[in-house]
Amino acid sequence: MLIKTNTEFIQHYFEDSSGVLGAYAEKVAIAESNKDVIDLLQDATKTNTPVTVVGGATGVTGGCLAFGGIILSTERLNNIGVIKPITDKKAVLKVGAGTFVSDIKNYVLKNGWMYPPDPTEKNATIGGNIATNASGGRGFKYGTTRDYINAVEIVFPDGSLAYIKRGIIFANNNNEITFQTSKGDKKIKLPDYKLPNIKNATGYFNYKNADLIDVFIGNEGTLGVIVSAEIVLIQPFETLFGGIIFFDDRKKSWDFVKEIRNLSKKQISENDINALSIEYFDRNALELIKKDYPMMPGDLDAGILFEQDCKKTNYDLLLDKWIKIIENYGIDINNVWFATNEKEQEEFRKFRHKIPERVNELVKKYKIPKVGTDIAVPHNKLEEMIYFCEDKFNQAKLMHLTFGHIGESHLHANLIAKSKEEYEKCRNIYLEIAKKAVELGGTVSAEHGIGKTKHPFAETMLGKKGIEEMRRFKLSLDSSNILGQNNIFKIK
Ligand SMILES: Cc1cc2nc3c(=O)[nH]c(=O)nc-3n(C[C@H](O)[C@H](O)[C@H](O)COP(=O)(O)OP(=O)(O)OC[C@H]3O[C@@H](n4cnc5c(N)ncnc54)[C@H](O)[C@@H]3O)c2cc1C
Repeated sequence: MLIKTNTEFIQHYFEDSSGVLGAYAEKVAIAESNKDVIDLLQDATKTNTPVTVVGGATGVTGGCLAFGGIILSTERLNNIGVIKPITDKKAVLKVGAGTFVSDIKNYVLKNGWMYPPDPTEKNATIGGNIATNASGGRGFKYGTTRDYINAVEIVFPDGSLAYIKRGIIFANNNNEITFQTSKGDKKIKLPDYKLPNIKNATGYFNYKNADLIDVFIGNEGTLGVIVSAEIVLIQPFETLFGGIIFFDDRKKSWDFVKEIRNLSKKQISENDINALSIEYFDRNALELIKKDYPMMPGDLDAGILFEQDCKKTNYDLLLDKWIKIIENYGIDINNVWFATNEKEQEEFRKFRHKIPERVNELVKKYKIPKVGTDIAVPHNKLEEMIYFCEDKFNQAKLMHLTFGHIGESHLHANLIAKSKEEYEKCRNIYLEIAKKAVELGGTVSAEHGIGKTKHPFAETMLGKKGIEEMRRFKLSLDSSNILGQNNIFKIK
């Protein structure tokens, strides 16, 4: 175990991408083995010392920020194991929790496999992605991190280690599960609340007869420290093309998305349209990066970025199908940007990344935490949600921009506060938006988690009773409440 205490050298552990200020810790412990994690947690439980786990510190809700105690960094738990094919279409790979997801993706691709989850931020670790159930642009086709985690090794605050494999242990009808650890059996009872059946990262995951592994995916560093994971790999697609379409009327862009979503759902043969990603940028989001992309057409109301994977043999056929649909919306195809090779695809990735990057720069400039929504709603409620948000933003005269995963009806509206007063206004508006999302059957966080910045929104969705159930559940695994303090909810 490497221990750092010199303030100068640990300063950077006090920041993530949330803009939350004031984090501090006595020391940073850099684990080099499972045993290091076991020993540290065991000691911390005995001495009642808070422990906060940090992976890549790219989180946007302050989950990895410590306010006292010890920071446990996974940066040296970064082994990549051997790829084990299960069939010719599926393989598994064991990776250390601190491995960068970008390193995993590159490694498996070089070896003829693909790890599908594709969160935009490449400096995130697999442990962080699992702890937040990250997703990203290609979630439309591939789902979330959860869908590609076959097993995890997790250390609990009492120093016990468990290997939890998918498909082995399930909750009974009372929501109870018993499982083995290195220090004997643990019996837990999951929260009883019902979560909406859409993309969701709010609260501990549960569903009827839940698989044990799913309970620990998305736990935001509060239940245990994930030290390694076995991830699922699939065969990479042969090739892909993508486009960015600029609309002068956003309603047309929404209709376009509906049509593509429906066609993708109905796909029968590989010659049919089936989008890999469908991403949205509103007028203000495009305006924010106008300086970076001066070649963007003038009067814009919205942009849609899409990708479709395919074979080389049906590439032209599928591209033609997309072009026909795009033209049906009155779009001049010469104004559509296409990505037809790897270099152009990388440019698209940068384009998509540029917006959160510019937002984060503004957040740093004004030194006020970002207020960024992460709500998702059922598809038939998306427009109602967008209009509701816009009305609120415009009434309050706040700087705002919206972008994100429209294919999954999951958009990030970002409010940029320039002063503490504006920040309070933004938070109040966010609460109204959260309430509306819940009323429409949605979730208050679909991929970033609750962390330390979104407690009131979690309560809006799960109610006081739901928060109480989470507390009870956490304390059953972390009786001294040392781990990930104040992530998701506060312990009274
Ligand atoms: C520009 C930008 C773009 C982004 N795009 C996306 C996106 O497309 N999709 C998306 O989902 N997110 C996105 N994010 C958010 C962020 O990248 C994710 O939340 C990511 O999963 C965090 O991983 P990390 O390793 O940086 O974790 P950290 O920020 O270090 O930690 C996040 C949480 O996980 C916990 N944690 C970390 N490692 C472990 C572990 N081994 N065991 C237990 N708990 C652990 C921490 O305690 C904390 O609560 C983006 C962020 C930025 C800055």
